[in-house]
Amino acid sequence: MNLVSKNKFLDSLKQRRWQYAIFGILLSFIGPLGELVFVKTFSGLIKDSSFLTLIYAEFLTLVAFSIFGFILGKHTEKIEQLAFRDKLTGLYNRHYLIEQLNELMALHKRYQERFSLIMLDLDQFKRVNDSYGHAVGDKTLQATASCIMKEIRETDFGSRFGGEEFIVVCPHTSVNDCYELAERIRTTIEELRSDNLGFPGPQTISAGVFEVSSNQELSLSQILNKADQALYRAKKEGRNRVAVYRA
Ligand code: GH3
Ligand code: MG
Ligand code: MG
Repeated sequence: MNLVSKNKFLDSLKQRRWQYAIFGILLSFIGPLGELVFVKTFSGLIKDSSFLTLIYAEFLTLVAFSIFGFILGKHTEKIEQLAFRDKLTGLYNRHYLIEQLNELMALHKRYQERFSLIMLDLDQFKRVNDSYGHAVGDKTLQATASCIMKEIRETDFGSRFGGEEFIVVCPHTSVNDCYELAERIRTTIEELRSDNLGFPGPQTISAGVFEVSSNQELSLSQILNKADQALYRAKKEGRNRVAVYRA
């Protein structure tokens, strides 16, 4: 989201509070007026007016709360998209990734639950931008994100770490299984062609895999650093490959 549309969105948030207030005021008018109409309409059917009022109050509360809930829910969805997701690819953003990693690290510390992560980076991506333009580059990033989403499990966590770098976190997963997943992602991306990439391709990736296993007391930056070291090795050994961290 660029600065202009972000500002517009923030302005729309400010307007929203007035919209809610006006909606509340309208409902407060409609409430008693509707009651008159409702009681009058159904007084032939039900004689007990206090019972009629009770039914009306229940009905109005139900309608009002569902409408409010729906509007608020939709709005929260939008805010969540903005806070947790990367706008271009739809994957989780770096901020949310770090939150999730902190949570996994706490679980690891408490219960020794292992997890693995893949740090992956598009190969020679600058050339794609330089040769075909940024719009094509963006399309390639989106296609990469789709491949990641296609290959990972529901319990895995796919995120855009920044630029053309992505991180996949796999809870309860060994380094071998994580390596296999990284290989699947790598080959799926390598098979993409023009209709997905926006240029003839192939686009390759390099990836580094690291497992946080029992009794390892590592900080967040140490974990990221080890995955990065493995990625660096994959690049150095010729790109288009997956490397596992070696101490
Ligand atoms: P390497 O194989 O060593 O990773 O080479 P590389 O060219 O991929 O790496 P480099 O770091 O030199 O270039 C990364 C490029 O990614 C440069 C930058 O313009 C591009 N990039 C980063 N974010 C975006 C984005 O959101 N959209 C587009 N189109 N390009 C992006
Ligand atoms: Mg790159
Ligand atoms: Mg990079």
